[in-house]
Amino acid sequence: MTETRGTILVVEDEPEIRRFLRTSLAAEGYRVVEAGSGARGAIDAGSHKPDLAIVDLGLPDIDGVDVIRRIRAWSPMPILVLSARAQERSKVEALDAGADDYVTKPFGVGELLARVRVALRNSARPGSGKSALRLGQVSADLERHVVKRDGVEVHLTALEFRLLACLAKHLGMVVTHRQLLLEVWGPSHVEHTHYLRIYMKQLREKLEADPVQPRHLLTETGVGYRLLADED
Ligand code: CA
Repeated sequence: MTETRGTILVVEDEPEIRRFLRTSLAAEGYRVVEAGSGARGAIDAGSHKPDLAIVDLGLPDIDGVDVIRRIRAWSPMPILVLSARAQERSKVEALDAGADDYVTKPFGVGELLARVRVALRNSARPGSGKSALRLGQVSADLERHVVKRDGVEVHLTALEFRLLACLAKHLGMVVTHRQLLLEVWGPSHVEHTHYLRIYMKQLREKLEADPVQPRHLLTETGVGYRLLADED
């Protein structure tokens, strides 16, 4: 590959992980800019204007969440978070601060590259994501508000539809409980996570072939939900 697929900023203090990321991303044709600290990363984000940033949460100087806030203050670039299991809470904080998705350490290269591709694809699509989705036997036309299962129209309530549309806006990426409650129910309901359980169950019953083992409306334990659609 001669042409670069875009520039990725890697903010990570551990040299081995940085090297692994650089090698894996460069092999896919991305140009990689490396920063070993949070402050450096925030500066590099401004000077290199990368197409995407990968930010580790456990940094020696400033918190990864602060790096995300600093980038978000001026840029909508997609941000992927690298987090260790012990950082569950800061992971949610990072996502609510504007990160788009996360990969938990230790991670495989396949998973990382898939997350990078999805995040870049979503950012390349202006507006609110894809308006036509295919979820197994279900087709959803979000613009026309028409959802069909095996060709037969399925009725979604206004809230169910808004929930589906909100997940579709971040297709393939995680959406936190707080984000969903804020966007679908409004600012006074951000603590009401039981709403999500109830409405997600209803949506799965209407849209999933097996609601108990969903293939499209996925739970991200302790974090939120993720919508996966079939590729067309
Ligand atoms: Ca670290």
